[in-house]
Amino acid sequence: MELSELAKNVSPSPTRHLYNLGKQFNDTIDLTLGDPDLPPILPIKQAACSCINAGKTRYSSNAGLIELREKIADSVNCDYGITSGYDNIIVTVGGMEALYLTFLSILNKDDEVLVFAPYYVNYVEMIKMCYAKPAIINTDEASDFEISRDKLEAFITPKTKAVIINNPNNPTGHVYSEQFLNDIAEVAKKYGLFVISDEVYKDLVYEQKFKSIFKAISDNYVLIDSFSKKHCMTGWRIGYAVGPEYLIAAMTKLQENVAACAPVVSQYAALEALNYKSPAENLQEFRRRRDLVIKKLSTSDKLKVITPQGAFYALVNIKNTGMKSMQFCEELLKKSHVAVAPGIAYGSMYDDYIRIAYTLSCDKLEEGLNKTLQFII
Ligand code: PLP
Repeated sequence: MELSELAKNVSPSPTRHLYNLGKQFNDTIDLTLGDPDLPPILPIKQAACSCINAGKTRYSSNAGLIELREKIADSVNCDYGITSGYDNIIVTVGGMEALYLTFLSILNKDDEVLVFAPYYVNYVEMIKMCYAKPAIINTDEASDFEISRDKLEAFITPKTKAVIINNPNNPTGHVYSEQFLNDIAEVAKKYGLFVISDEVYKDLVYEQKFKSIFKAISDNYVLIDSFSKKHCMTGWRIGYAVGPEYLIAAMTKLQENVAACAPVVSQYAALEALNYKSPAENLQEFRRRRDLVIKKLSTSDKLKVITPQGAFYALVNIKNTGMKSMQFCEELLKKSHVAVAPGIAYGSMYDDYIRIAYTLSCDKLEEGLNKTLQFII
């Protein structure tokens, strides 16, 4: 049976490729996926257990439990100073499904979405899964991964439908400046673009204050968020989107046909999670790990770490090793059993980089960094 063109055209992620290769050894130090080793706090786990024990394990409405959507609305109203209600919220199978339902709801064939590179690889594939096109805007270290308003406008075509921004960014750890966010918001207004703001790492910002583009726009927007990173609930698959009612209604209609609803046990756990902020100890722990990555890797003149301002990823320039990113990652894994992600996963321009997800304890991370340093001697 011949597979669909879509199935044939969607590319598997090089990050997952390294993760899967790492499984062949039982001592791999895995720094590939954005999947932290820290657990959710006890009340979240207890809420899930109570939910199972009470038999609250049936389907919910497609958009999610009303009490959860109300509580999410209260939380975003407080964080962003807006006045959303539960009709502005859909609960989804992780932030990923919120993204996919957004793209499915707004894109027609051949529409273009502006995507800043280096990018979260799934944006590109999801856009392709809607028969639309990612318009890749390369940014670089030298210009702090931002571009001017004029340069941004040069990417607009009659087919441009939306712009997506991931702030703080995966894979750079960059936190965008207010100026850049305002420029995007103004360009979006001028050309009637839809703005998708993926803020799943917004509670993981180290030194500066996080600013959201959400404050600069009042319609044609969607905010994507998730419990995965801020409450360390990656495997619970629970996230949400906040947007205008017409969009949330469309996403809800699609949700019925995709997943019916997000897992109900996870929805009750999320209801509990909303009683707490993302733990400050987690942020401190990620900062310790970030500092360790910088301290260790800056002892080598072959590596240059871009200081992450948020999230838990470090992009490292490997140009001076003379290797391209996939070769570097495969050889490092084969020789030293350390798995990291190749920069090529995040855009064709980033083949001189690797991404290290500092998702393991300082001890394990240090062992992985030492092995990486020995590998490049
Ligand atoms: N957006 C970005 C930028 C991410 O890095 C991730 C996960 O790595 C997600 C969204 C989705 O996360 P989840 O589906 O676990 O909520």
